[in-house]
Amino acid sequence: MEKLCWPDGKSFAFTVFDDTDRATPGNFEKVYDCLRDNGLRTTKSVWPIRGPQTSRLGGATCEDPVYLEYIRELLRDGFEIGFHGATYHSSERATIAHGLEYFHELFGSYPRTMANHAESAENIYWGDARLSGIRRQAYRLLHFKRLRFYGHCEKSPYFWGDLCRDRIDYVRNFTTGDINTLKAYPCMPYYDPQRPFVKQWFSSSEGPNVHSFLRVISEANQDRLEAEAGACIMYTHFAAGFQDTNGNLNQRFRELIRRLASKNGWFAPVATFLDYVRQQRGEHVIDAAERARMEREWIKHKIWTGTS
Ligand SMILES: [Zn+2]
Repeated sequence: MEKLCWPDGKSFAFTVFDDTDRATPGNFEKVYDCLRDNGLRTTKSVWPIRGPQTSRLGGATCEDPVYLEYIRELLRDGFEIGFHGATYHSSERATIAHGLEYFHELFGSYPRTMANHAESAENIYWGDARLSGIRRQAYRLLHFKRLRFYGHCEKSPYFWGDLCRDRIDYVRNFTTGDINTLKAYPCMPYYDPQRPFVKQWFSSSEGPNVHSFLRVISEANQDRLEAEAGACIMYTHFAAGFQDTNGNLNQRFRELIRRLASKNGWFAPVATFLDYVRQQRGEHVIDAAERARMEREWIKHKIWTGTS
């Protein structure tokens, strides 16, 4: 992959996909105030509708008027609103279709980016379906909790692959522990002919809670991202400890974001960033060798971090 130049003479790119788990009015807004004040525009995912069952992890949906008002404010201020499934638990096709339409009604367009949620049965190409061939078999052997996901299985009540393909531009898959997402996964965004219900895939750098997030965006890593003229899409949960129960924002987060923002970086939402990469390079269709390389990269990362 040829090296990219960033828009407006910027030296590197940095953005965040915020997984909405646990986010509820009063426990995450300071994070966004800080990003906004420092000129960063990122992607906040949502669940459009309230599920009929109770939420295992907790978190508000767009049916909560106070939460919705804040999400709309973020959209007005240039943040992107992404999709994290219709709600916080498994949804069948009709509910997902309704969730997407309701999203459109609320925000004026369909979501452009999406990430699968935890153990939701409608997750698309998830679990062992993230991998191919021998690596899929190895994954099965290593995972005792054999969850199955059906978003791409046409005969399942959880199938919504066609809706995903028609409505959503970018879906998140592989992760790395490196701040430079593009270095670990240089061909993103890409189309995978073996997974045709996803238009384009993107990867991310993993920092699921405040501690791991801060480790990835440390001073040394920021400097390296800049030196490498790289690009970072952090994947995190901004309701996971960034703001304490008294409503105070983590001080180190504030410092590190301020430091990052003082650099000559491009801080646009995930879809804007991915559009730019695609415009510069054209559509990229991965072949078997590229798929295998990415799968190995991901397995290496998972073994290293011990996460599933
Ligand atoms: Zn989630």
